[in-house]
Amino acid sequence: MASEPLTEARVPVGDSAWATALAQLDEVAELMGLAPGVHETLRSPKRALIVAIPFRRDDGSTKVVQGYRVHHNVTRGPAKGGIRYYPGVDLDEVKALAMWMTWKCAIVNIPFGGAKGGVSVDPKHLSRAELERMTRRYASEILPLIGPERDIPAPDMNTNEEIMSWIMDTYSINKGYSVPGVVTGKPVAIGGSRGRSGATSRGVMYMTFSILKQLGVPVEEASIAIQGYGKVGGFAAQLLHDSGCRVVAVSDVAGGLYREKGLDPEAINRYKRESGTVVGFPGADPISNEDLLEVECDVLIPAAIEGVITAKNADQVKARMIVEAANGPITFEGDKILNDRGVFVIPDILANSGGVTVSYFEWVQDLQAYFWSEEMINARLKEIMDGAFKEVLKLHESKGLTMRQAAHWIGVGRVAEAHLTRGLFP
Ligand code: NAD
Repeated sequence: MASEPLTEARVPVGDSAWATALAQLDEVAELMGLAPGVHETLRSPKRALIVAIPFRRDDGSTKVVQGYRVHHNVTRGPAKGGIRYYPGVDLDEVKALAMWMTWKCAIVNIPFGGAKGGVSVDPKHLSRAELERMTRRYASEILPLIGPERDIPAPDMNTNEEIMSWIMDTYSINKGYSVPGVVTGKPVAIGGSRGRSGATSRGVMYMTFSILKQLGVPVEEASIAIQGYGKVGGFAAQLLHDSGCRVVAVSDVAGGLYREKGLDPEAINRYKRESGTVVGFPGADPISNEDLLEVECDVLIPAAIEGVITAKNADQVKARMIVEAANGPITFEGDKILNDRGVFVIPDILANSGGVTVSYFEWVQDLQAYFWSEEMINARLKEIMDGAFKEVLKLHESKGLTMRQAAHWIGVGRVAEAHLTRGLFP
């Protein structure tokens, strides 16, 4: 038989998260000479579920929103990945986030594959009771995919410990017994792990220290700008401030703040608790989210959404270093420009892997029903992240790759090795 392609590959172009994720994979596959069959397998998610989520509003009416759960790859273990509630979330975005989870778990060498979930909704417009009903219905709809041995969700944008409790409860009620290991990032009272809520931010701090050391900037002299003042960005600001860095700019979806002498995250947290936003915080200059990416600083930490640094604004970034706390904040083209300009980027799949690493610790503790101290968790997290950073840096230096290419090389390489070791069924 002629070896004609059975299907035409659809090559997405542009700045979407899925286009970025595929372009990153294709680039590293070529660099490392990945076997074409494995490359093609890794380009597609293993399975994807689209669900309609009808739920009752407080006024008695019914609203239907759309939800997704994607398993990109489960060759190295159960699928692992967060659930986000965000208006406009679509299948391609969730596919990209699931693919990045696969590489992330492999880079820190934890025995998980990659997954992600999303619901296209703005939870700000729901009451707490509506949020609970919608979450429980979404959990019920994705029930066939999840479970401690198949797929373990966690928090992401606009989801939190309470939402994880409702998912754990919905799953457990269906089983007839408590299954704490079905989600991570849940409260300690029901089998959550100490240190999980701050783990992503703590990992971002470790990576920031590593990059500052690498570039010879003392921590106390470093200036930092952080886009996104949520679970990850807000606590990272606090940790970095407490370590002696000067946090000069922060923002949330409504806008940002700038103060050259440095901002006090504790005071901002107090203000935000009252007002619901960082905008309007007294004693700082207002800036837009676009301006935040271009402020003078040593380290820029995007900690909000995908695709904020593109070919259009990459040449305006003043920071010498970028630590990607968010998933996919830099597009493929934007990344090339930053690299040409000598900006040192710690990629998302390494920089924000602290969250999934402590999620792994939580899952292990749940399965063993034996819980660890916070000191032990933070120490093990640091050991794993520092080890992963060293491995990526070594490959970056020895092969002349960018840090992102090196991280992908390691992540994709481990997944490919697992595929080749298991063989192709049937
Ligand atoms: P979150 O919902 O707690 O916070 C998100 C923050 O980003 C908020 O301050 C929000 O106002 C801001 N934001 C939202 N849309 C924005 C926009 N268009 N422009 C500027 N700011 C905007 O979410 P989070 O859990 O902190 O997640 C932030 C990022 O980190 C996401 O990319 C997520 O995938 C990634 N991440 C999170 C975790 C985790 O453990 N939560 C782990 C790894 C990666």
